[in-house]
Amino acid sequence: MSDYSFPYKDAAFLINDVLDFDQMCLDAGKEDVNAEFAAAVLEEAGRLGSEVLAPLNSIGDELGAKLEEDGVHETPGFADAYRQYVDMGWASLSGDEEYGGQAMPRLLAAAVVEIWDTANLAFSLCPLLTTGAIESIVAHGSDELKNTYLPNMISGEWAGSMCLTESAAGSDLAAVACKAVPEGDHYLITGQKIFITWGDHQMTENIIHLVLARLPDAPAGVRGISLFLVPKFLLDENGQPGKRNDAYCVGIEHKLGIHASPTCTLNFGDNDGAVGYLVGEPHNGLMAMFTMMNEARQGVGIQSLGVSERSYQQALAYAKERLQGTRSDGSRYPIIEFPDVRRMLMVMKAATEAMRGLIYIAAAEGDRESAAKTPEEKHRSATRTGLYTPIVKGWITELSQEITYLGTQVHGGMGYIEETGSAQYYRDARVLTIYEGTTGIQGLDLAGRKILGDNGEALQGLLDEIQATAQDLSGVDNLSAMAATLKQAVESGGQARAWLLENAKQDRNVAGAASVNLMMLLGFLCGGWVMGSIGT
Ligand SMILES: Cc1cc2nc3c(=O)[nH]c(=O)nc-3n(C[C@H](O)[C@H](O)[C@H](O)COP(=O)(O)OP(=O)(O)OC[C@H]3O[C@@H](n4cnc5c(N)ncnc54)[C@H](O)[C@@H]3O)c2cc1C
Repeated sequence: MSDYSFPYKDAAFLINDVLDFDQMCLDAGKEDVNAEFAAAVLEEAGRLGSEVLAPLNSIGDELGAKLEEDGVHETPGFADAYRQYVDMGWASLSGDEEYGGQAMPRLLAAAVVEIWDTANLAFSLCPLLTTGAIESIVAHGSDELKNTYLPNMISGEWAGSMCLTESAAGSDLAAVACKAVPEGDHYLITGQKIFITWGDHQMTENIIHLVLARLPDAPAGVRGISLFLVPKFLLDENGQPGKRNDAYCVGIEHKLGIHASPTCTLNFGDNDGAVGYLVGEPHNGLMAMFTMMNEARQGVGIQSLGVSERSYQQALAYAKERLQGTRSDGSRYPIIEFPDVRRMLMVMKAATEAMRGLIYIAAAEGDRESAAKTPEEKHRSATRTGLYTPIVKGWITELSQEITYLGTQVHGGMGYIEETGSAQYYRDARVLTIYEGTTGIQGLDLAGRKILGDNGEALQGLLDEIQATAQDLSGVDNLSAMAATLKQAVESGGQARAWLLENAKQDRNVAGAASVNLMMLLGFLCGGWVMGSIGT
């Protein structure tokens, strides 16, 4: 079953009524962008999503990608779909205007990305990684690198990949062993990267790999890692893909889900050395990569929302059709009439709406940061985005496991059978808590950098805001019960904050042991806040 429709009404309500998109656009000096325009954009994206990308979802799952003599070949139909995606201008939606992008607000871009993710998670990974690579080059690349690579990456003509992981360096990037040796105006990269998403394919003329490697004089640990731009094809004198660079895919993984997204082992420099160009300062590659990871972490949150929405829509449709109850007159009725099935569907619906709300709020904070008029405003928004990022990545990806599990459960035995598609969502979702930093790493980021790092100040600001929403809710008819629960939850959040600040001083294991539970607590608290904000 490939039918799905984007929840336009829910998205529009959040974008316009909760987040006041028109005002946001005016504040950002984008007078030509408004709610009406956003609705038209979403409708058009929804068409490509439901008519082109969604029908390829189960085909991609069944056929996957294949490694052949001349490299990785994506699932048949994907290249054509990608061409349409590029030709319609979707790739450049949020790109920098200076390099040909349309510079649309992050909030609108997040809603559009949700459509790709809901339609076809494996496909959407390719643009996700390209966007992350673009952000990194924009933030850290030299003018020459920007002018040479960004226009084609932003237009989608060239894709990007993110090459961090090695067999001995997963969560612990301090162990990165790939090497980079200076040679004239470039570097020669050698070593192997594993698990590289869309590390090779035929959908674009070139692939721009961003690779972490060590210079010969690099200090040990994370402070000795540099970032390099390594194109699949070196550019000729006209700036077009020419000679093949020495970076090849030597294997693709067989895996639980997202079969259409090739997960590649890439060998750099087996022959003459792969030509690479330094991005940012030497030994400062991890900082540059963090720009990409933060973007990608929020992106994985959107993926979790997308697959949850799809799982919910399919479960709802099935529950309306599947007859399992028999009335006294012998007529049969559908399973949606059973309270427990409705419980599962309502959990799915409520959780998905809360996920969407938090993701859009986080995206809007990014817009606020860009439009900030003073350094203080900018700092405040950047800090808040920093706080949201591990919650969006950690809590939402974990929640998507439960939602896709319930989607399968609603189908009963048919959920376990591949034909319905429900099992695919469950399998596809499983990686979301693993890549772009596992849940454990998100918990550490939240407890360590984002809470202990500023003595809990940013978190206190968020708790105060949630408390104010709870206060507003208590004055709304029929919502006082929700207000009381939210107040209680803010109190728990405050206690958890105080406990962490107090106990982490005595024992550094404390933060590590409690961090994931704390992240989940704050995630549910934010989810309740979002639902409450919608209520007011
Ligand atoms: C399908 C897929 C696609 C991927 N795509 C890419 C890609 O495009 N580019 C790329 O570079 N990588 C990619 N990865 C790699 C991915 O980012 C890593 O798998 C992930 O970072 C975890 O590393 P690891 O697998 O080595 O697990 P490990 O680091 O060995 O972790 C194992 C367990 O230990 C825990 N753990 C490890 N360190 C800590 C710590 N300090 N504190 C608490 N717990 C800890 C983890 O949470 C986890 O539960 C991909 C992986 C997959 C499966």
